[in-house]
This record gives sequence, C-alpha cells and structure tokens, in this order.
Amino acid sequence: MGQEERKLTDEYEISDVLGRGGFSVVRKGKRKSSDHLDDHDDESRKQVQVAIKTLRRMGGGKTVIQSRESRGSKQGGGGGGGGGGGGSMVRPLPMSGAAVSDALLTNEILVMRRIVESVSPHENVIELYDVFEDARNGAVHLVLELCSGGELFDRIVRRDKYTEVGAAAVVRQIAAGLAALHRADIVHRDLKPENCLFLNERPDSPLKIMDFGLSSVEEFTDPVVGLFGSIDYVSPEALSRGNITPKTDMWSLGVILYIMLSGYPPFIAQSNRQKQQMILAGDFSFYEKTWKNISSSAKQLIKSLLAVDPQRRPSAQELLDHPWVRGDSAKEDQMDAEVVSRLQSFNARRKLRAAAMASVLSSSIFLKRTKKLKSLLGSHDLSQDELENLRIHFKKICANGDNATLSEFE
Ligand code: ATP
Repeated sequence: MGQEERKLTDEYEISDVLGRGGFSVVRKGKRKSSDHLDDHDDESRKQVQVAIKTLRRMGGGKTVIQSRESRGSKQGGGGGGGGGGGGSMVRPLPMSGAAVSDALLTNEILVMRRIVESVSPHENVIELYDVFEDARNGAVHLVLELCSGGELFDRIVRRDKYTEVGAAAVVRQIAAGLAALHRADIVHRDLKPENCLFLNERPDSPLKIMDFGLSSVEEFTDPVVGLFGSIDYVSPEALSRGNITPKTDMWSLGVILYIMLSGYPPFIAQSNRQKQQMILAGDFSFYEKTWKNISSSAKQLIKSLLAVDPQRRPSAQELLDHPWVRGDSAKEDQMDAEVVSRLQSFNARRKLRAAAMASVLSSSIFLKRTKKLKSLLGSHDLSQDELENLRIHFKKICANGDNATLSEFE
C-alpha cells in the first residue's frame, strides 16, 4: 500500500480521551485487524491497545515527518506496515483549539525517533509505535504505548502502605529510564511527576517516562523553559539560560524526591520571581517538623541532587548504585500520615491548575490574556481566592466550551 493511502482511522479505532495537554489531546486506540496476532507474542499484543497523541501544528500544511525510507531501521514497530507516512491524510479528530509550534512538534517527533532508534524498548521509557500525519488538518498523531496505570502521585496517594523503600523503588525506575535516555544523548528537560505514568494497574507495574516535547537530542541550543508550566522542577542552569546537560534532569528528579518524602516542593515563595531566586541559590531546607523521621541517607541524596553546580549532582547511572536508591538504607516504616495528606492536596492543586491550563490554552482568546494567567498558574502558592477563581473559570469553560471569558482573571 502506498504511503499516501495510510490513514490513522484505517488502522486504528479511536475511543476515549485519556487526557489533554496544553497543545495535545490523547485518546485510546485499538489496532484494527489484530485478530490474527499470536497471543504469545507479547510485542505484537501490546501494540494492539495504544495511546494516540494528536498535536495540531500552528504552521500551514507542510510536512514534519520524514519519509519512511529515511527513518531508522527500528522505526515502525507498530507492525502492519511500519512507519509514519509522510503526507498521509487522516480524518480530522476533534481537539482543542491550541496549536503547537512547528519547532516544538518537530522536536518531539525527532526525540521520539531517537528513542526508537537508540533506547527502545526500555522498561522505563514510553515507546513510539507509529506516526501519522494529517497534512490537510495540520495535525500529527503519535501512536504510543498505552499507560493505563495512572500518574505517579495519584498512585502513591492511593497506596495502603507508603515507605521510603517504596519511594526508592520509584526513584530507581526513573533513574533507570534517565540513564538509558542520557546514554543516547537525550535530555528530557521537562521531568515532573505528571510525565511519569505507570504502564498498568499491577502493583509491580513499570513506571514510564513520557512527554518529550521539550527534550533535546543535540547540543543544547535554546533554553525552552515551559512558558506556562510550573517552574518547580526547573534547574538553576535552565533558569539562568546556562548549559543544559543530563544533570539538568537529575535536579528535577531531586525535586520529585523531595516532594515524595515531604508532600510539598523544596522551593516555596509568594511569587515566581522569589521562587526563581531561591532555585538559583539552591535555597531549600529540611524543616525539622516534617523531615525528622526521614533517613539521613535520603536527605543526603536530595542535597546532592539539588546541588546548584550540576557537576556535583550524581548521574542517573551513579544513582542506581546509591544505597538509598537500592533500598539498602531506605526506611521500611510507614511514612507519617501528614506526608501522604500533604501529597494529596499538592496533587489535587496541581491537577486543578493543569485542567484549567489545558482549557485556558484551548480557549480562543487566551493569547490576549496570558500575562495575568501566567503569574497565577505558574505559582504553587495559589491563594484561596485564586483557587476559587480558577474553579469558577474552569466550570465556565466546561459549560461554555471555548466561549468562556477570562474576565475573572483581570
Ligand atoms: P503539556 O505539553 O501541556 O505539558 P503534555 O504534553 O504533558 O501537556 P500529553 O503528553 O499531551 O500532555 O498528555 C496529556 C495527558 O494524556 C497526560 O496527562 C496523560 O494523562 C494522558 N496520556 C498521555 N500519554 C499517554 C499514554 N501513553 N498512555 C495513557 N495516557 C496518556
């Protein structure tokens, strides 16, 4: 079959929306004509149920997908005909109004392709099976491994028992994924808990690193700090537009670990500007009241990951040999109940902000009102009034679709 004839909807049944990002919508998909697959062939079976991430391009109809021939030999593991079709048409899928810049979209595809060539399959890195371009509608569909086990923090707060040993097992998985990415010269650059999804619901499910929209494959050129995202996980060198290296991801992992063991982020301030200053100075502490029951080994590890000088941070590979990460010096006692309840409320606030952000980005007038929103959404320390405003705004968006006004933010 010629590439021009490949259509996403010819090959996949598309169903529920799994989630929305600022510039994307992710749906569940099922590969058609999968009946003939061998039940014992895990590789082909797992590619039947997939996640389809659709990104809409800002630019016109120009293609961002290389032709199948020019792609890496491992690309197109999706069986049934291999890689993405440059210029293939697919039926438009309804999605939000926000569009991603060509540069970012091309970047995400390039990074995913590098992962296919140099990393996959890896237990802790999401797999890309296929790419379809809908040139007519300026959309690109990434066919990805389906992760149905939920986000990292959602799962932690649901656990009956939560211990340092359990937290160490999570860090081990993220470090293993990062080590593989870093070996392939890929820096994730946007590592945060919501970009870590469990593959399935089983207690021993692998954790997968995903969302490579801001990642870099080449020598660092342009420091893209998420314009609207939280700066909580952003390293000092990224903030100061310095040199981005794999150690940048290690900082983000340090922030994730700090939150996992306390329920709140290491850098808390009234404004984003203040928070930036704290990050640049590495100004954080372990408040005695919350940290007294946490092992000194864990605190030492966090200190090393949150070193302002990237060279002083351990690499992902070194982390795998750390006694706390291996579980040897991690405590087996149940963590204080307050840690879990703080983590719960931290997670709930983050989700509310993310939901509001996704709908705001999909709102046709958001571009006119970004400044105030940025200052509201970029902070973790929203006041009750601000939270209430977000709730009201979110409800309106749900009720009115894209027609909601942003006046309540003015
Ligand atoms: P933003 O760029 O605004 O940060 P994002 O890129 O993080 O958004 P996406 O990668 O588009 O967001 O994912 C949006 C949501 O879709 C995720 O939060 C997750 O819930 C869901 N999702 C994404 N990929 C998968 C997947 N492979 N399996 C299951 N769910 C997924």
